[in-house]
Amino acid sequence: MLHTLERLPDDPILGLAAACRADPNPDKVDLTVGIYMDEDGVCPVFGAIRDAQRALVEEETSKAYLPPAGDPDFNTGMRALVFGGDSGALADGRVSSLAAPGGCGALRIGAEIARVASPEAKVWVSDPTWPVHMPLIGSVGLEFEKYRYYDAPSHGVDFDGMVEDLKRAKSGDLVLLHGCCHNPCGADLTLEQWGVIAELAERQGFLPFIDIAYQGLGDGLEADAAGLRLLAERLPEMIVAASCSKNMGLYRERTGIAQFLCRDAGNAEAILSQAKVAARRIYSMPPAHGALLAGRVLAAPALEAAWRDELHTMCLRINGLREALVEKLEATTGRDFAFIRREKGMFSFLGLSEEQTRRLREEYSVYMLGSSRINVAGINAANIDYVADAVARVIA
Ligand code: PMP
Repeated sequence: MLHTLERLPDDPILGLAAACRADPNPDKVDLTVGIYMDEDGVCPVFGAIRDAQRALVEEETSKAYLPPAGDPDFNTGMRALVFGGDSGALADGRVSSLAAPGGCGALRIGAEIARVASPEAKVWVSDPTWPVHMPLIGSVGLEFEKYRYYDAPSHGVDFDGMVEDLKRAKSGDLVLLHGCCHNPCGADLTLEQWGVIAELAERQGFLPFIDIAYQGLGDGLEADAAGLRLLAERLPEMIVAASCSKNMGLYRERTGIAQFLCRDAGNAEAILSQAKVAARRIYSMPPAHGALLAGRVLAAPALEAAWRDELHTMCLRINGLREALVEKLEATTGRDFAFIRREKGMFSFLGLSEEQTRRLREEYSVYMLGSSRINVAGINAANIDYVADAVARVIA
């Protein structure tokens, strides 16, 4: 029976990254996959994580399963990181959480719970959104609707369009929102706009489903969670999928967490029991290593301070690269690229056609997605001039 299945095409993003790796051009530049890279093009291990790992290797005496909800330090630390240490909802025991295999696992657990609670739910996703949302959430059987989000001509959020579309979201639907650093466009909501979304959710009764995979890489750990926290203050319920892949550099360790803001502590406990059962029917137990490292970092003030410093340095570097890229691109092309400065996190669309991105790849070995989404962190002092010149040539 297996022979009846056909070979599927490679993932388009990973396929482009592989093509870049195979490209012999010494000047090649990889701006495809969303991993943070430093000035040397290396995706580094955080010093605080390395220290935590050394201690863990020394002290770990068993590889027995963790409790089904995951490491308690990790859960406590992540709830405070996302909702804020002074969150009223946390103090009231209204947030339960389940460690998951990465932000992806958390999104899937959130979708499983939504499907059980509201089998006919529509999941409203931004246009565009991260393409992996569809298979991750859709495979539980939920259907999608799109809301307008990125306006290519103005390089910003079409907020009026978004609100108009979300007026059709009903009680029992989910609205998937990127907590910060929108993937793929980098255009985020203002706090005022988050307030409008909160009002809509209150009025219409839809459930916000927040995907926060880049907390700390836009404007800082607290500012990046401000929109989500505003919703948490005003709304009775919300699902949050958080990832430690980028902000703790734990990509391959598959470290994430599904969090459920509930009406009261009793509901929070009930939802946790549902989440455990959902995990049990998919992969059973959460992965331990990454969560134990993150838990140690979040529970030890010295390690946490060191991690916050390192993350802050990354954030500053990304924002510095955005600034430099605007200057270089404006100098080489004579066009306005100021929107790159306004956008947040690792991604921006350069606003190029698919044909122009193909020429960049084939003629200059500069790799980005066909949508012209770039990973800003793939730029460095050694390649920025080359990239800006190549972009100028393809749009000339
Ligand atoms: N959501 C978004 C928007 C992402 O970009 C990512 C990572 N690419 C994730 C969630 C989850 O990533 P992971 O499963 O590696 O934690």
